[in-house]
Order: sequence, then C-alpha cells, then structure tokens
Amino acid sequence: MHRNLEHSEEKRLRQERIRSLIEELIKSLGEDPGRDGLRDTPDRVSKMLVEELAMGYFVDPQVYVKTFEVEEYASREGLVAVTNIPIRSLCEHHLLPFFGYAHVVYIPSGKVLGFSKFARVIKVLSSRLQIQERLTEQVADFLNEVLNPRGLMVLIEALHTCALIRGVEESMTMTTMAVRGVFEEQKDMVNLALQIVNSSKLQLPKFEGF
Ligand SMILES: [Zn+2]
Repeated sequence: MHRNLEHSEEKRLRQERIRSLIEELIKSLGEDPGRDGLRDTPDRVSKMLVEELAMGYFVDPQVYVKTFEVEEYASREGLVAVTNIPIRSLCEHHLLPFFGYAHVVYIPSGKVLGFSKFARVIKVLSSRLQIQERLTEQVADFLNEVLNPRGLMVLIEALHTCALIRGVEESMTMTTMAVRGVFEEQKDMVNLALQIVNSSKLQLPKFEGF
C-alpha cells in the first residue's frame, strides 16, 4: 500500500525532480527548452503527472473507503452493479495513456461502498504506471478486501494510445476481467453479471481507418 503523500514535502520534491528531468528530455531531443512554446512545459508536465496521471503514487486509496452496512444484504442475495467508471491510466511500457471504462458487479455480504467512491478508488489505482491486466486484478483485490463480498467481478475495456498512434491496430480494444468469490465457481452468475454490464455499458470510440 502506498503512503498518503498528498500534502507532503516529499511530493513537492518529486515534482521538482520530474520538472528538471522533463527539461533534460526536451534538451536531449535537440530542442531549446527556453523557446516560447516549451518554456512552461516542464512545469506543466510535472504538475500533470503528480496531480493527475500519476497521482496514484501520492494517495492511498484507503482514504476514500467508507463502507456502510446494509442489513438486508446480510441475509439476502442482492446484486450491485456500478458501470461506466472512467479509467485513465498510463501504460508502463510506453508511458502513453490508455483509457476506457471499468464495470464492477458484486454480491454484498452486508457492506456496500458509496457510489462515487468506486470512481475515486479506481482513479487512484489507475493513476500509476500500469498494465491493464494488473490494474484489473488490483481493483478486484482492493474491493474484495474492503467489501468482503460473496462475489465480485471487475471488467475493464480500454483503448491503448500506444497501439492507436503507432498504427498497430487502430481500433483494437482490450478487455480484462477478474472474478472473486462465487463468480469463480458459478458460470451462470458470471453470465448474469455480464448481461447487466452489457445492457448499460458505454461503447468506446472507434478509430477505423485512422
Ligand atoms: Zn503500451
């Protein structure tokens, strides 16, 4: 688990280090970091990384966890689906973004998590250098731990700009799924969860002939 560094001196120092490395990168490309268009770029990029795209290194997702008990769920088999949670992450192989949606379906054993908290937790876990497969497993492990549900399914669909802009396969989408609890053994439960997700999920943009 990452320490919460949200308002720390350590975070300020790392942002400063990233700033000078970006300046060095610009120089190494043969560019003049002092010219008009580039002058503020090191600042802007380091801030964007620390505050947005890589903010997951500075925030512990546990700070967003406030589960509450719904007694009815302790004795009944209810099912909760939270779909179309935005994913914005950086692929660790190319440092380029991948983006899409995560869908979570779970069968609570009593504890539930507030609607918006799913997006927050997933934002923290995805704002690190990731591969989609590991991100999916980490989201499943994290939610499984805090909710202790009877079953859990996490599905992520994403477009990878490293494939998109390098002309690999423009409209290639990656889908990853992780299951825990009853979803590991009961295929019909997985099918039911997939039906629910499919009926409400948003489509990713297509870039055919791009
Ligand atoms: Zn990549």
